[in-house]
Amino acid sequence: MAAVTTTNDAEFARARAAMPGGVNSPVRAFGSVGATPRFLVSASGARVTDVEGREYVDLVGSWGPAILGHAHPAVVKAVQDAASRGLGFGASTPGETELAELVEARIARPASEPARPIERLRLVSTGTEATMTAIRLARGATRRDLIVKFAGHYHGHSDGLLAEAGSGVATLALPGSAGVPAAIAAQTLVIPYNDVDVVREVFATRGADIAAIIVEAAPANMGIVPPQRGFNAAIARIAHAHGALLILDEVLTGFRAGPAGWWGIDPVPFAPDLFTFGKVIGGGLPLAALGGSAQLMDQLAPLGPVYQAGTLSGNPLAVAAGLATLRALDTAAYARIDAASAAIADAAADALTAQGVAHRVQRAGSLFSIAFADTPPHDYETVKAQDAFRYPPFFRAMLDAGVSLPPSVFEAWFVSAAHDDRAVGQITDALPAAARAAAAA
Ligand code: PMP
Repeated sequence: MAAVTTTNDAEFARARAAMPGGVNSPVRAFGSVGATPRFLVSASGARVTDVEGREYVDLVGSWGPAILGHAHPAVVKAVQDAASRGLGFGASTPGETELAELVEARIARPASEPARPIERLRLVSTGTEATMTAIRLARGATRRDLIVKFAGHYHGHSDGLLAEAGSGVATLALPGSAGVPAAIAAQTLVIPYNDVDVVREVFATRGADIAAIIVEAAPANMGIVPPQRGFNAAIARIAHAHGALLILDEVLTGFRAGPAGWWGIDPVPFAPDLFTFGKVIGGGLPLAALGGSAQLMDQLAPLGPVYQAGTLSGNPLAVAAGLATLRALDTAAYARIDAASAAIADAAADALTAQGVAHRVQRAGSLFSIAFADTPPHDYETVKAQDAFRYPPFFRAMLDAGVSLPPSVFEAWFVSAAHDDRAVGQITDALPAAARAAAAA
């Protein structure tokens, strides 16, 4: 291990003097959990190590990408090999085609129509770019301007998508963002989640002007709030009946909820027009994507009039990491993630029950989070009504015990295939004290 030459507090003080809030993404500041963010220097498998040499069992997983565990040997080797051939060319590479073919083959559901809804994929660098481009494409294809978005859903930080957003916007209790022109915000209609009647109403009044509905396949940025059975299929039908598109945001759920994302396991099959991916698809490096039918996707430049571009799009290191990650994500890996998730979620529920703390384990496939509520939240209002004040002491007790949870009650707990029995055991051992802290809050 490297010699310890600094303290975490010293690193945070230095970072705050050099960068806004000392961070490059807001929730990393730990503001809502009343703790000092840990400055990390290395990570391996289910564990991360901070600048003081302290090790934590990690349930942040780089916010999703580290699904195989940190620094998975096959992924690291693929990146090293790619790096030795050049860091980027700004030209097409065979790997990009391979990755597109792999995604197109994986997002398949034999009993569905169309069985393979992605015929073309475009690689970008972040989830924000993927959803931003999907929206531009939907607007270009339909020649309409309005977008329907659900309160509490997070689709990245582009202007039109920050209204009543989840993730850090929810953690900081912001209605949206300063700096978004009112004229742009007015193009986004924000409605409550899981209520098909409201979707019907908004289309009944504005349907001719709506380009698309954008939806998290299974929302995970206000904690987990699973779609009610058939919700995605219902909103797809409504959108299509009005000539609008459905953009299924699988940036977080894609290749995590299962080999074909949430779409592959949603109990009622449906046909989105565009998919967006991020996180797992890049295996820890900056890579994201959008995909759909050839007819729709070919409206992107250079073939069509909808412009999108990127200096680093399809970067060969990111593509290598993505390919290695998807190849390693086999049935056995998903089974391990499912089993570890279930064990951790059940242990958290048991610990909280033992302390009489009202809670609900919110699940969507192997994704889960804990809501401090008597009844399962089903939309942003009910999510916000929970006893969120119980989370900071719970979080800090887990951190003290060497377990790194997401620093907000509005985030999923990210389990990886590297969470073996020992890692799960360390988490379950830490839970009773954390539940006591939550009870005392
Ligand atoms: N969509 C969803 C569903 C997400 O969870 C996120 C990130 N958490 C994004 C989009 C934005 O992705 P990025 O942070 O890579 O821009």
